[in-house]
Amino acid sequence: MEVPFLDLKRAYARYGQEIEEAVLRVLRSTKYLNGPETRALEKELAAFMGVNHGIAVSSGTEALYLILKALDLPPKSIVFVPSFTFVSTAEVVLRAGLIPFFVDVEEDYPNLSVEALKEAYELCLKRGYHPVCVIAVSLYGYPARLTELLAFCQERNLILIEDACQAFGSELEDKKVGSFGVAGAVSFYPTKNLSAAGDAGMVFTNDENLALKIRALKEHGQTKPYFYEYHGLNGRMDEVQAAILRIKFKYFNEELTLREKWAKFYEKNLSHLYPKVKMFKQLPNSKPALSLFTIRATRRNELQRYLEKMRIATNVYYRIPLHHQPIFKDELPLSLSLPNTERLSQEVLSLPFFPYLKEEEVLKVCEAIEEFYANG
Ligand SMILES: *Cc1c(COP(=O)(O)O)cnc(C)c1O
Repeated sequence: MEVPFLDLKRAYARYGQEIEEAVLRVLRSTKYLNGPETRALEKELAAFMGVNHGIAVSSGTEALYLILKALDLPPKSIVFVPSFTFVSTAEVVLRAGLIPFFVDVEEDYPNLSVEALKEAYELCLKRGYHPVCVIAVSLYGYPARLTELLAFCQERNLILIEDACQAFGSELEDKKVGSFGVAGAVSFYPTKNLSAAGDAGMVFTNDENLALKIRALKEHGQTKPYFYEYHGLNGRMDEVQAAILRIKFKYFNEELTLREKWAKFYEKNLSHLYPKVKMFKQLPNSKPALSLFTIRATRRNELQRYLEKMRIATNVYYRIPLHHQPIFKDELPLSLSLPNTERLSQEVLSLPFFPYLKEEEVLKVCEAIEEFYANG
């Protein structure tokens, strides 16, 4: 039996027909952009997030970029970002003409360390740089320490932006991840918690002026028909994706329950392998909607090869942290060492994880990991 990392066909088997009908309706309507599906999706998801505005865009990356762009921050100011994340988080900082400052994550949690952030902030001031904002990622779906980060930012006049691309549906203190900062970016990339049939994303915010500006920016900076007030871009979500997302959203809560079930199952069946296998703790009062189930494993690469031989698919998110990536090499006037990021990038391994896993598959994964460590 082969265990896939993610098999989207199983979700499609469940509600593919509904999706096909919805897509056909859009095609036959010939209303492909800025139509009723997009508007309805924005309303539905903003309500779910508990915020006033949802702005449908072409991807999670564009969502992040549009937030930065709309904030109109002074050129070359410093933006604090984790290095242990997907490239988009920091790529958009460069694209917006700002400087990323990579900050370490916690020792046993994959998100920004408030301690490390303090140190980074102080280094900025000492060297005469101007820090303006923090992008908090809730990696794998585990909420970042958003309450503390928000307080940190407010005390120092920094802006908190959320990269909630992997965490749609996650909660901290009964609030949705992505609704803590001035704005949050969510991705509907096919592997994410709520996923389109291609690229799509959304910005969530309570700030009306920011929402209006992002709406303009994603339409070439247009504020009135054919009148361009800002230097924008083409960043719309199309109606077909919006229609697909609305169908899938109907099943979303149920799928979150299944994600929770498989995460608990892994935890229960792997916890005895501590400390060879470690799992991420949960923050108090948090309800992570995991997009990836990730363990920390000693001899990670060997374990991954062993699982591959057993026909179990796994992935490493992320093997090369961003501060080692060529695109950032000449862009980092300020840096600190990132020991936790370095270590996690050696240890993490994401296991097969999606709502429609089967119990025998999860069991096979757990048994194979147990075997690997039993044999030395
Ligand atoms: C997926 C992802 C993005 C980018 O989303 P796209 O829709 O692929 O552009 C940004 N940040 C993180 C942490 C992600 O996982």
